[in-house]
Amino acid sequence: MTVPTLVDSHCHLDMEQFDADRDAVLARAQANGVIRIVNPGVDLVHCRQAIALADQHPQVYAAVGIHPNSSADFSEQTLIQLRKMSDHPKVVAIGEIGLDYHWDTVSRQQQAQAFRAQLELAAELGLPVIIHNREASTDLARILEEWTASARTRNSPLAEKPFWGVLHAFSGDAALAQAARGWNFALGLGGPVTFRNARALHELAPQLDLDRLMLETDAPWLTPHPMRGKRNEPAYVALVAERLAELLAMPVEEIGARTTAVACSIFAPLSGDESPEPVAAAASGPS
Ligand SMILES: [Zn+2]
Repeated sequence: MTVPTLVDSHCHLDMEQFDADRDAVLARAQANGVIRIVNPGVDLVHCRQAIALADQHPQVYAAVGIHPNSSADFSEQTLIQLRKMSDHPKVVAIGEIGLDYHWDTVSRQQQAQAFRAQLELAAELGLPVIIHNREASTDLARILEEWTASARTRNSPLAEKPFWGVLHAFSGDAALAQAARGWNFALGLGGPVTFRNARALHELAPQLDLDRLMLETDAPWLTPHPMRGKRNEPAYVALVAERLAELLAMPVEEIGARTTAVACSIFAPLSGDESPEPVAAAASGPS
């Protein structure tokens, strides 16, 4: 059986859950056809760690941004740091950013302020955005609608790009999927598509445009069936690809090739000539 070519477009490889065996995790990802991994930051410390991993591993790329749950002390200084870090050649996006009304650890007003400031940074730099949305679709849609409209009128360098961003861990709202098209966004599908009780998502998936979909794990979280309950890891993006292949009645190789093409289109450096071919993780040495 051939191994499909896959991209894990959203994985938190920098989290401490991988400290003990990160090299083995990367080796398993490669054995499962995962040729590229995008590691978004969630706060300044993790952004730096994501960039350090991208420096160490040719197949790893980073995104820099402040997650809504970490945006309590977001300031002008934070923005300066993000702008500096975005200069790194392996930083492919601003993210993950967005709104999270589930935990509500940071006030909605503060979340919106950090979200808007980071969207503006992305428009200025011409970098796509990786969006986190939890129970906040209405406010999120309003902010993205305003942002895309205003960035267009101000001739943001994003206007030249095929995609402006991705709604990561998308979980089955047809209206939001439709709105995302209008904003020139892709959708990221991960573990939830494999969950047995995710009927709405199973029904929606075949109606989505495959040329606007990316695969992801959100590891170490959102572990796909049948590994639920264990730590997630990038190799399991293959389980997401297999489930999507079933739902769309298509060969898994085609799912892999088309979603990889979308990932390389949205995160341009992934397909650049300068990006080295993936290599096996070092067999020894500290991780
Ligand atoms: Zn994430």
